[in-house]
Amino acid sequence: MIRLHDTLTREKREFVPLNPERITMYVCGPTVYGRAHIGNARPAVVFDTLARLIRHEFGDDSLVYARNVTDVDDKIIAAAEAEGIDPSVITDRYERHYLEDMRALGVRDPDLAPHATQEIGPMTSMIERLVELGNAYAVEGHVLFSVPSDPDYGVLSKRDRDAMIAGARVEVAPYKRDPADFVLWKPSPEGVIGWDSPWGRGRPGWHVECSAMIERHLGETIDIHGGGLDLIFPHHENEIAQSRSAHGAPLARYWVHNGFVDMGAEKMSKSLGNIVTPSELLAEGHKGETLRLALLSAHYRSPLPWTDALVEQSKTLLDRFYRAAGDSLPGQVDEAFLQALRDDLNTPLALSRLSSLDGGTLKASAALLGLLQVSAVEWFQGDTDAPAIEQRIADRTEAKKSRDFATADRIRDELKAEGIILEDGPGGTTWRRE
Ligand SMILES: [Zn+2]
Repeated sequence: MIRLHDTLTREKREFVPLNPERITMYVCGPTVYGRAHIGNARPAVVFDTLARLIRHEFGDDSLVYARNVTDVDDKIIAAAEAEGIDPSVITDRYERHYLEDMRALGVRDPDLAPHATQEIGPMTSMIERLVELGNAYAVEGHVLFSVPSDPDYGVLSKRDRDAMIAGARVEVAPYKRDPADFVLWKPSPEGVIGWDSPWGRGRPGWHVECSAMIERHLGETIDIHGGGLDLIFPHHENEIAQSRSAHGAPLARYWVHNGFVDMGAEKMSKSLGNIVTPSELLAEGHKGETLRLALLSAHYRSPLPWTDALVEQSKTLLDRFYRAAGDSLPGQVDEAFLQALRDDLNTPLALSRLSSLDGGTLKASAALLGLLQVSAVEWFQGDTDAPAIEQRIADRTEAKKSRDFATADRIRDELKAEGIILEDGPGGTTWRRE
């Protein structure tokens, strides 16, 4: 039994899917106009880990996991204008980088990756429905959602009206009937990406994108809706209002939100300019699994302070895990480890349990976190000292060939003194750190 903390009810609840043979999970994906940073990678790793757990518990084919790609947005338009190129060049480039970076962190591609620009029809039809139902109104080429039309607005963020208006930093526009009303559709001037619609040429607002894609690909009510804490308001609040107003059913049965990655006292964010990207860290020689373990080291709902020391500790821990697993084949997943994950994805507890395991049990358990995905040999060969060590192993092999066993033994002893253990096998000599 999995228990998940649901932001809507503010409590941990037993996870009971609507249909255990088709569990549906939607996570708000990237807006593709720049390189992803570690803070952006956290939800990708957290929900990939949750997906692995759900598949372990309910079966490999039990889950449909959708993560959208926002490929029309003001920031994309600005980036394209700055480079003097078509927005699709920007979005293709950064979507490709996003997938490369996330795959390097062991994040499997979601089952569905709907793109906003490919879903304009479902969005305009949802907007039309909202207008017909009196939940939205068209004015000066815009369509706005009427917040006062939804008596339950605020149910997720539990903010009062003034806090909502302040928090949304909503644009004060003369055409708005209420300051809290938000944009479903906005006009695109000549030369800016846009589509024909009943309200003139324009483009969709961000919030309606997720509501329309969820309805089209996963259904009216999904099991899990995920994303970062910063999306609770206004993005997810607005998704709930749109979806429930359009079809009457609740949008999601469990709302799961991950905390921020912090740099010092501040949240890591592009606008604060304090970001570290997976691509930089990988280029410095850190491995994807090291960064993944670092991202799973704190509970997903807690803030995660990102430091160089955290990355170093994660590497050391993985070295220990790889030594303890050796070259065993995956066995059974450890029960106490599994209990930790089932309890609202308690990865810190699960990791501490891993430290007491070895062999095939460790290998199988770690796999559920997306760790120990390569052989121990491969892991340690990536060592920065590897070329020098390999050279001395080659010297020793030469010495043995010429029956100079004294030299061969001396090299072995010298390496051992440095903590390098050699193992002679039919395929040659391999090494590992003690
Ligand atoms: Zn969304």
